[in-house]
Amino acid sequence: MKKFLAYFIPILLAFAVGALGSYIQGDALAEWYPHLVKSPATPPAILFPIAWSILYILIGISAGTMLARGDMSVLRLWLLQLLLNFLWSVCFFALRSPFMGLLVILALDVTVIAYIIYTAGRRSVAAWLFVPYLLWLIFATYLNGYIYINNQKPKEKTTMSTTVAKFALPALPYAADALAPVMSEETINYHYGKHFKTYIDNTNRLIEGTPYEGMGLEEIVKKSDGAIFNNAAQALNHRIYFDGLTPTPKVMPERLYDRIVRDFGSVDNFNKKFAETAVGLFGSGWVWLAEDSKGKLSIVPTKDADNPLRHHLNPLMCVDVWEHAYYLDYQNRRADFVKEYMKLVDWDKAASRMQS
Ligand code: MN
Repeated sequence: MKKFLAYFIPILLAFAVGALGSYIQGDALAEWYPHLVKSPATPPAILFPIAWSILYILIGISAGTMLARGDMSVLRLWLLQLLLNFLWSVCFFALRSPFMGLLVILALDVTVIAYIIYTAGRRSVAAWLFVPYLLWLIFATYLNGYIYINNQKPKEKTTMSTTVAKFALPALPYAADALAPVMSEETINYHYGKHFKTYIDNTNRLIEGTPYEGMGLEEIVKKSDGAIFNNAAQALNHRIYFDGLTPTPKVMPERLYDRIVRDFGSVDNFNKKFAETAVGLFGSGWVWLAEDSKGKLSIVPTKDADNPLRHHLNPLMCVDVWEHAYYLDYQNRRADFVKEYMKLVDWDKAASRMQS
């Protein structure tokens, strides 16, 4: 009976600690572990509980061969390896730290080697029974190390000037003087070269180190507020504006023409309403042709940096009615500017922005 207990208790203890280790893994195995980059040598998940069960029996018997002879000296190293085994589950899964897991598993390797050396001098069968465990642990050390090395978060970027700009000033699809006399080269140089560029530069500077870093301009405009929103939205607004102008306008594509006629009665009527809205907008802002999710077009005036994306509308074209857009060429005559601006609209671009 005593002999039976000498084997049974270590095996039971090993399984109990193994089960506790699985329990404290919690949701990590289901929601965190599957997303890690793992070694191609990782065995199928089903193999792990099978391997551990066999190993728990072997290491339990190993301790039993010593305990059955009344040699209790082995207990210290045996219990230490079991404690480290449990601690590994805590570090790797419960704390989700492959780094701490790696440290613990290295300590476990050393402890198991010490156990093998210690028992080899006293009872070699106890040492041999631990060899599969050691081999498995060495393999597990490799798997843990692989996960640690390949799943590190990118290092925080420094705020040095070496940081690569996220958004670049898009090149104009025409020469700076190509839109004259509607828009003079001087207006383009200021409006595109200074105002637009400043919004891009500010956006890049403000998003650094924030969750917006790495997002597209549209996504930032949808999600941000304050200074980041003001600059990102102005960057996007100007991108749509300058991209939507052309010195050589063509006939409006049919699919946009049909939609405008359907929703505004006629192109003339649309032009008239669009110009009226642009002239009537008080202060700084934009006037847009936008479509909703069903493809219905509307004329949308927005204040300051606001963009139709914030109102679940898709912008197709826009006119900038901030004074900086027209003051050099038209001074306070916004109506004249808007009337002339309509001659430069690139309707191909507007149509290409349609999503429905
Ligand atoms: Mn502007």
